[in-house]
Amino acid sequence: MKILQASSSCLITLLLILPLVFAASSSSEDFDFFYFVQQWPGSYCDTQKSCCYPTTGKPAADFGIHGLWPNYKDGTYPSNCDDTKPFDSSTISGLINSMKKSWPTLACPSGSGEAFWEHEWEKHGTCSESVIDQHEYFQTALNLRQKTNLLGALTKAGINPDGKSYSLESIRDSIKESTGFTPWIECNRGGSGNSQLYQVYVCVDRSGSGLIECPVFPHGKCGTEIEFPSF
Ligand code: 5GP
Ligand code: 5GP
Repeated sequence: MKILQASSSCLITLLLILPLVFAASSSSEDFDFFYFVQQWPGSYCDTQKSCCYPTTGKPAADFGIHGLWPNYKDGTYPSNCDDTKPFDSSTISGLINSMKKSWPTLACPSGSGEAFWEHEWEKHGTCSESVIDQHEYFQTALNLRQKTNLLGALTKAGINPDGKSYSLESIRDSIKESTGFTPWIECNRGGSGNSQLYQVYVCVDRSGSGLIECPVFPHGKCGTEIEFPSF
């Protein structure tokens, strides 16, 4: 009788624990790595659509953050994962000054940046909540921008935002030389139809702390020679 009681209480404990074990393991597989994406303002602005400077004024002539995007190794990605955690600027009040400098919005009409940050948090940030909370999400992106210093990497190799064309290979190599990892370069078309350096993707581990080689690259194509517009 005692044995029967003991084994049934074991069974009940097991039944109570199992869902927790599954919940923990599924949330640890909710994405594999991040793309950290930075945009060149000159290339956002010189397209046929043009741009609007933020209400705080013209951003510095430097790469700005577009987003930190959780991704799967098969190239697909989750989005809008938790509508119970809306963007809350009070969680990043200590970061706002850095955000305005490093994550400026260029979309029209002019804004402070909050709408852009809100969009990025809701679409992408909510999918990394198992690892980092809202404050950490934005802090992680700011740290990564400092760490990658794309403009420094390019100018060190003699690649300057001067409206001239550079080989895609030299752009990729200079960033690899400086960060240690191969970036993905995304191009767009300038006003005259030219292929130009628009966004740079680097891959980041699940914790958001270290760069990694990309498990998979996005799709898209640049020319072999691409323009680096001024801003
Ligand atoms: P586009 O279609 O202009 O390349 O991308 C539009 C938006 O879709 C991006 O700004 C981003 O929010 C999302 N997106 C595009 N490609 C990827 C990707 O490979 N991974 C993730 N996580 N999001 C992406
Ligand atoms: P994604 O392409 O990541 O889904 O999000 C881009 C969204 O953010 C678009 O709705 C776009 O209008 C808005 N947005 C606001 N500012 C910027 C900006 O400076 N660059 C880009 N690429 N999108 C911006």
